[in-house]
Amino acid sequence: MAGRIRDADIQLVRERVDIAEVIGERVTLRNAGGGNLKGLCPFHDERSPSFNVTPARGVYHCFGCGVGGDAITFLTELDGLTFVEAIERLAARAGLKLTYEDIDGRVRRGPSGQPGLKQRLLEAHTAAALFYTGQLVEPEAQIARRFLADRGFDRDAAATFGCGYAPDAWDALTKHLRAKGFTAEELTGAGLAKPSRTGNLIDRFRRRLVWPIRDSSGSTIGFGARKLFEDDQGPKYLNTPETPLYKKSQVLYGIDLARREIAKTGRVVIVEGYTDVMACHLAGVPVAVATCGTAFGAEHIRILRRFLFDSESANGRIVFTFDGDEAGQRAALKAFDEEQRFVSQTYIAVTPDGQDPCELRQHRGDAAVRELIERHTPLVQFALDREIAKHDLDTAEGRLHATRAIAPLLARVKDRGLVDEYIGDYAGRLGKEKAELRRAVAGAGADRPAEQVPAPRRSRDADSTQLRAQREVLKLALQAPQVAGPYFDVVDATPYSDPNYRAVREAVEAAGGAAKAAAGANWIAAVSGACTEIAAQALVNELAVEELRLDREPDAVYVRTLLARIQRPVVEAEVDDLKRRLQRINPSTDKDEYMSLFGKLMGLEQHARSLRDQAANAVE
Ligand SMILES: [Zn+2]
Repeated sequence: MAGRIRDADIQLVRERVDIAEVIGERVTLRNAGGGNLKGLCPFHDERSPSFNVTPARGVYHCFGCGVGGDAITFLTELDGLTFVEAIERLAARAGLKLTYEDIDGRVRRGPSGQPGLKQRLLEAHTAAALFYTGQLVEPEAQIARRFLADRGFDRDAAATFGCGYAPDAWDALTKHLRAKGFTAEELTGAGLAKPSRTGNLIDRFRRRLVWPIRDSSGSTIGFGARKLFEDDQGPKYLNTPETPLYKKSQVLYGIDLARREIAKTGRVVIVEGYTDVMACHLAGVPVAVATCGTAFGAEHIRILRRFLFDSESANGRIVFTFDGDEAGQRAALKAFDEEQRFVSQTYIAVTPDGQDPCELRQHRGDAAVRELIERHTPLVQFALDREIAKHDLDTAEGRLHATRAIAPLLARVKDRGLVDEYIGDYAGRLGKEKAELRRAVAGAGADRPAEQVPAPRRSRDADSTQLRAQREVLKLALQAPQVAGPYFDVVDATPYSDPNYRAVREAVEAAGGAAKAAAGANWIAAVSGACTEIAAQALVNELAVEELRLDREPDAVYVRTLLARIQRPVVEAEVDDLKRRLQRINPSTDKDEYMSLFGKLMGLEQHARSLRDQAANAVE
């Protein structure tokens, strides 16, 4: 059994470790005044930062999801380390030597005072990376060196990226690490070795060029290995399997080198391979990263967002590079379904002649790589252009088919402002009136949930005032449920014109309604838990901490005024509708129907009037 770490040592680790530095490796932190730092919370999905770090007290706290603690808690929560592993990792970075004790307080010496498993796996990886780079200079590694040189990577580049060579032997690394005291379990646990058919432990990577895969703090957590020999039966690329350290859905190759630039520029470039990451960095695009053996997914986005720090103004840009239109088109269409929240921040760059960034740099130099990235196109525009290119816009028939082809794409975009912009841009090119294209989009979206049908036209200003009021009402329901609840609960989701707002409104109801709730973390968690979509969930956390637009405690008048403001357009539209229906009825032949509608209209008009009066309250 492993000994326990002496209390005095734990104390010392707490004192010595700079929490801002530890967290700063995973989350971009900005000065928030008063000695506090702020960033996007790594524990929940959010758009505006509510994650606070107070270096002076060595603590962090998220106002969005309520997590908090010190540097040790941070590592246990985020990296899934045990308490002991977290302390070991922090001690190692602070250069502190830990003393382990028996339960009865006797100091242990020697290997029995083992550090935790994850720490050992990290140490094994560090030793393995050193071993591989050492092998790269051996005569046998000539083919690996040539592979690098052929692609324009010199010795410095290889050193920066830690390139190495796995030798042509069954157990060269295994023997090397066993001699350093690593156990068979540790080597298999780290994915560095595996049992052979005869039961002996053999190296996972052999006769291959290897790249160390590091996490954002620069620790090596796995390897990617490329085939070099024709007679190698394995796949072109071989990666570390899933281990306690290596989760491929979260791994981004190059993040350790790119994270500072990503934070600084608010931009990240996604490429497809190790050599592409190298090529981009060397060509002056130091924000490139690649996924390893898996498609770019939601987990990767979650990790990148912490560095992108895209605030509500949404200026963070994710640029995907593709070698070829076809691949780009397919990926772009897929992104429509998966990354709705990031549609407006997603860009596509397609390399000419189907070359990847590495080949592009080889053939046309660094500037060509930089140009490629500069020429990025918004995802939506890219997808629409590709569709339109399939049709002949010189003929009326071609324009009609093109309109039909892009309408369903636009119908899938949830961000209405964006849809409106594109309708404006493309109507002209297709020789259509904006209203016509808008109708086509609405028609294409008719088989989808109603939220995707564009709202009736209203001026932008009226729209934003409306949305602001809707947002404020939701904040009240989350932050002051006792005050807002009784009024909030009786107004259904209809007036909420933004689909995410509507989703939050519905989640409040699903969580039992605001009237019965008590303000606090439990209420927020309940609403968040009732959300069916991640976007809505993130919005709940955001709204729960966003300041109210008034500088006093909210009261019933404030709540009712805002609710009146958001209901007014709905009721007025109903009044208009009824009036139109009445005009079509002949009162002398359909007297009953006329009277019934007329009575309804009277009631509605009265309701609209009272809403108008209430909405006119000066409360802000
Ligand atoms: Zn949080």
